[in-house]
Amino acid sequence: LQQDLQILRDLPAETRDGYRIPLWVNTGLITDAVRSLDRGAEGVGLYRTEVPFMMKDRFPSENEQQKIYRQQLETFAPAPVTMRTLDIGGDKSLTYFPINEANPFLGWRGIRVTLDHPEIFLVQIRAMIKASEGLNNLRVMLPMISSVNEVDEALHLIYRAHAEVLEEGFDVEMPQVGVMIEIPAAVYQIRELGQRVDFLSVGSNDLTQYLLAVDRNNPRVADLYQAFHPAVLNALKQIADGAHAIGKPVSVCGELAGNPMGAVLLMAMGYDMLSMNATNLPKVKSVIRGVNMAWAKDLMQQVLTLESAPVITATLQLSLEKAG
Ligand code: PEP
Ligand code: MG
Repeated sequence: LQQDLQILRDLPAETRDGYRIPLWVNTGLITDAVRSLDRGAEGVGLYRTEVPFMMKDRFPSENEQQKIYRQQLETFAPAPVTMRTLDIGGDKSLTYFPINEANPFLGWRGIRVTLDHPEIFLVQIRAMIKASEGLNNLRVMLPMISSVNEVDEALHLIYRAHAEVLEEGFDVEMPQVGVMIEIPAAVYQIRELGQRVDFLSVGSNDLTQYLLAVDRNNPRVADLYQAFHPAVLNALKQIADGAHAIGKPVSVCGELAGNPMGAVLLMAMGYDMLSMNATNLPKVKSVIRGVNMAWAKDLMQQVLTLESAPVITATLQLSLEKAG
C-alpha cells in the first residue's frame, strides 16, 4: 500500500481522456502540511488559521504568527498556500475570546468578527504578508462573506497592511485575495463578489448547512444534512458557471471535494481545483484517473435532473461502480 501511495503521489490527477484537475489540501497544523506533500498535494487550498490560534491561551503576536505562517509557506513553496483569515465563532471559539450567543452559526463569525476588530485582522494580514517575503506564494481568503461591503472593507485593510509592511522595508508583493462562497446570499452575488477578487472558493460544509438550514454538527438532524441534496448541487453548478462567466477561477475546499463521488461531479461542473484533507487525496486521485471527463459530464447532467439526495447518491454509487 505504501508503495502504491508513492507511485500515485507522482502521477497527475488526470482523467483517461486527458483532463487534468489540480488537487490541493486543507491544512491546520504544520504536520498536515508535511503529510500533504507526501501525498502529492499541488498546493494548499485552505489553511485554517484558527488552528494555531486555538492552541494558544492568548492571541498570538504578529511575530509569532509570522513564524507559524512562514513554516506553511516555506513547506509548499513555490506551490501556492491559501491562508484563510481567522474564522472563529460558530463552532470554533477561543478560550481567551469567548463568544456566547443563542445562534452562533448565524451570529458573530468569521469576517464579521475580524472586521469589527480590525486590529486583529491587520496584525494577521501583516504577519502573512511579512512571512511571504521572497516566496510570494501567499493567497489570502476571506470566510463568511455575505456582501460586497465586507469584501471592500477587507480589501481596504489588506492594501493598508501591505503598504505598512512595504514601508517597514519588506520586499513583498500584494497577495492574491479570494472570497469563500459559503453563505447562500453569496451564490446570488457571484458576479459582484468575483469581480472584486482574484479567486473564489466554495466552503461546501457551511453552504450545505445554510442552504438546508441544518446545523452541520447536530446529530439529531444529521440525516437532513445532505451533501448531495439537489439544491446544493444546483447551487454548486450555478457558482461554477457564474465564476467562469466573469473569468475567475473557482475551487471547492469543503468536505465534498474529498468525497470521490463529489470530486467527480465538481470536476464535471468545471471547478478549477479541489482542496481536501490529505487523507482523502490519494483516493480521489485514483478515482479521477479511472474515469473519462466526457462520461463525468454526462453523469453530472443526469444527476442535476434528479429530485432527491438518496436517488442521487444511489445513481452516483452505481455509476462509479460500473466505471470500475
Ligand atoms: C466550509 O465551510 O466548507 C469550509 C471549508 O470551512 P470550515 O469547514 O472551516 O467552516
Ligand atoms: Mg466554512
